[in-house]
Amino acid sequence: MKSDCKALAAATTELFKAKFHIHPTTVAYAPGRVNLIGEHVDYSGGFVLPIAICRGTAAAGVLTRDGLLTAVSSAFAGETIEVPMAQIRPGGATGWSSYVAGVVAQYRDTLPPGAGVRMLLNSTVPLGSGLSSSAALEVSTAMLVRGLCGDVGAADSGVAVACRRAEHEYAGVPCGIMDQYISCMGRKGHALLIDCHSERHELVSIPPGVSFVVADCGVRHALGSSEYPMRRAACERALAKIVNALGPRPSLRRCRVEDIEASGLDGMDAACARHAVEESARTRAFAAAARNEDLERCGALMAASHASLRDLYRVSCPELDALVEFAARQAGVFGARMTGGGFGGCIVAMCKDEAASDITARLMAEGGSPKAFSTGPCAGAWAVRADI
Ligand code: ADP
Ligand code: MG
Repeated sequence: MKSDCKALAAATTELFKAKFHIHPTTVAYAPGRVNLIGEHVDYSGGFVLPIAICRGTAAAGVLTRDGLLTAVSSAFAGETIEVPMAQIRPGGATGWSSYVAGVVAQYRDTLPPGAGVRMLLNSTVPLGSGLSSSAALEVSTAMLVRGLCGDVGAADSGVAVACRRAEHEYAGVPCGIMDQYISCMGRKGHALLIDCHSERHELVSIPPGVSFVVADCGVRHALGSSEYPMRRAACERALAKIVNALGPRPSLRRCRVEDIEASGLDGMDAACARHAVEESARTRAFAAAARNEDLERCGALMAASHASLRDLYRVSCPELDALVEFAARQAGVFGARMTGGGFGGCIVAMCKDEAASDITARLMAEGGSPKAFSTGPCAGAWAVRADI
C-alpha cells in the first residue's frame, strides 16, 4: 500500500490534470504537525517538541510563460487566485491567497524571467484546528516552486525561514518557527526539540511501538483571541520584574521557580511565569525520557503539562479537560494533554501502537470528539519531478 503522503501526491497530480488539462512537472508534499509538549512557551524562549503527522498538503504545478501566479485549492473549490508575479507584494492579498502569494514571492528571483506558476493544492490537514494547515500550505508551496526550478528532494531550515517570513509579511501572522521547522525537518520515528530562544533544534527518537492519537474536542471558544495577548503580556511583565529584582536574564526559560518567589511576583503574572519555567523543564525532561524509552514518565509529563495549562496558565476549557480525562483512562494510554493554543481545538494522547485504533474509535463514539485520528511521527516535506 502506498504511504499516505504518496497517495495524496498522486491524487493531487490527477486533480491538477483534470483542472488544467496538462501534466504537472513537479509535485511537493508538506506535513501538518502536533506539539507533544511545550505549550505556550515559544514566545518566552522555551522548548517545544512537535512531530510531523500523517496529514499534509500536496501541491502539483508547472512553470508557464504567462507571468502569472495561478492557484487553486481543493479547500476553496470555485476560487482561483490569479495575480501577475511582478505585482505580488505584502498587503496585496487577503485570506488563503496571502499565504500562497507570500511564499511564491520568496522564490520569485529564482524563476526564469517572465515565468509564471500554475499550481493546485490539496490537503488532508483540517484548516484552523491547530494542526498547522498554514505551515503545510506554505512549505508545500515553497517546495513546489523550488522543484519547478530543478531543486527537488527534502526540505531544509532555509525553506522554513522563508515560509515564516511569508506568514509574517504577507499573511500578517506573527508566528514562531515551530510549525515551519517541523514541517520541513520532521523525520519518521522522531520528534523535533526546538529551542525557541536560539532556534537551534535536534531530533529526539520516539521509541518503537508508540502512536499518538489526535482528537478534536469539537469547540472553539472566541475567548482565545483576547485571552492570548493577556497571557503574553503577563509573561513579559513577569520577566521585567524578575530582571528588575534579580538582574539580567534573556528570557523566562533562563529563570528558576525560586526567582519568581524572590522577585515578589503574585497573581496571574506569577502563575503564567511558573507555567513557562516549568513547562520548558518538562519538555526537556520528556525528550530525555523518550530517549531512555521511559514511556510512563513521558505520559506523566504530558499529564502535568495539561494540569499546568488548566490551573496556572488557564487556557484549557471544560470540553478539552473532559476529553483529556477520557483519553487518559483508556487502556494503553501513557498520557494525554491539550495541544495548541487552547480554549478548544485538539488533544493529543500517547499510546501503544496496538491500542491506537480502538482509542481513536472510542474518543469519537464515547468521548464526544467529532474527529480523531492516530499517527506516528512522520517525515518532513519533499518534492519530486512528476514528468510522465
Ligand atoms: P492552522 O494552521 O492551525 O490550521 P491557521 O489559522 O494558522 O490555522 O491557518 C489556516 C488558514 O491557512 C486557512 O484559513 C487558510 O487561509 C490557509 N490554508 C491552510 N490550508 C489551506 C489549503 N489547503 N488551501 C488553502 N488555504 C489553506
Ligand atoms: Mg497556523
